[in-house]
Amino acid sequence: MRYVNYGGHLGVIDNGDVLLLDDVVASGERADGPVAALIERLANDPDGTRRAVEAARDRATRQPYEASQLRAPLPRPGKLIAAPVNYADHKQEMKVEHSVREYGLFLKATSSIVGPGEPIQLPYPDVRTDQEGELAVVVGRQARNVAVQDAHEYVFGYTCAIDVSLRSTEDRSTRKSFDTFTPLGPAIVTTDEIVDDRTLELECFVNGERRQRAVIGDMIFGVPELITYASSVMTLWPGDVILTGTPAGVGPLAPGDVVEVTITQIGTLTSPVRSGSAAVPYAQRPSSAVLS
Ligand code: MN
Repeated sequence: MRYVNYGGHLGVIDNGDVLLLDDVVASGERADGPVAALIERLANDPDGTRRAVEAARDRATRQPYEASQLRAPLPRPGKLIAAPVNYADHKQEMKVEHSVREYGLFLKATSSIVGPGEPIQLPYPDVRTDQEGELAVVVGRQARNVAVQDAHEYVFGYTCAIDVSLRSTEDRSTRKSFDTFTPLGPAIVTTDEIVDDRTLELECFVNGERRQRAVIGDMIFGVPELITYASSVMTLWPGDVILTGTPAGVGPLAPGDVVEVTITQIGTLTSPVRSGSAAVPYAQRPSSAVLS
């Protein structure tokens, strides 16, 4: 299944159209969006919820798919976890000593999430801000101390993400948490459609020019290892999102750019880039005033 947040409705893509499953999750029911509600119901009552989805699909009205109706599939997950330096070629280009093994994971503010087509807003005109195309994994069940061989049972699905990153001195949780710094979507593709996530291919384009390409199997920690590691630290909840890291080819963004992340079998996420409305030179950022 390919689930979308379609104008606030739970939608499923079917032969290029959208079926609205309002019988399963009523539109506007929850601030964290209809897909989060579905994932939670599936976690609590897998069989009953699957039957409800099938019945709703049979009754649903078919609508032509309009990209403008898409919202972030999970606009407010419980946690937005991310892996730093999870590809060897990115470690090399960043000239850093360590990888996810040594750095561990970090958290992004969930308020940084935007949907497909919503602009990335650059906060500072004079600080390099990069695109990082990434595979996002959505947790399907509460998870704690999960073994690697069981990890895939805890995955609900996959989607595309951009981990927008300011190249400044601040901790990752600050410089990657600006509003609009996590475009997510368009659809969450459930695990039954993905035979082996290691074979997925990710590409990231800026203005049509390819900057990044990777096979997911090249990750230092694969999806199971990330689930195992994350769940050894913190309880994962249904609907939590894990950004799995970016391969080589990160580069600066400028107002007017268009970023596209394509992952085979998952889809394409497109994000325009704008100057933030309150963009100020880095030296004039509020923290400078506070600390001076
Ligand atoms: Mn990243």
